[in-house]
Amino acid sequence: MRYKGSCHCGKVTFEVKGDVAAGAIACNCSICSRKGALLIAVPRNDLSLLSPETDLQKYTFNKHAIAHRFCRTCGMHPFAEDTAERLERLAYVNIRCLHGIDIAKVPVVEFDGRVACRFAIKAAA
Ligand SMILES: [Zn+2]
Repeated sequence: MRYKGSCHCGKVTFEVKGDVAAGAIACNCSICSRKGALLIAVPRNDLSLLSPETDLQKYTFNKHAIAHRFCRTCGMHPFAEDTAERLERLAYVNIRCLHGIDIAKVPVVEFDGRVACRFAIKAAA
C-alpha cells in the first residue's frame, strides 16, 4: 500500500509504502509515551518527502541513533529515522499522520522500548 501523510499545518507532506493492516507499534520509551504515536517501521527508502527538508526540524537524544523529525511550524511529528546512513536504514512513521486510514481498525502491538533503551544504555556504558 502507498499512503500519503502530512503534519497538522500541511507544510510537511510525504508518501510511504507500507502496510498498517499488519499492525502498528505502541512504544513505551520516554519519547514515544509522551508523543502517543503509533508507528510502522519501513525501509527509509520507502518514505519519500514531498515537501522541502527545510520545513522539518530534528531532535535526537541518548545515543542519537534515531532522529525524531517534526514540523518547524506546527510541531507535529510525522516520522523518525535512523541517523546512520546504512543500507538497512529504517523510518518510523506515525500512522496518526497518514490520510485515509481507520486508526481504530489497526492492530496495536505493545513494544517495551523502556527495556530496549536500558539495554542500549548498559551496552554503551
Ligand atoms: Zn506543520
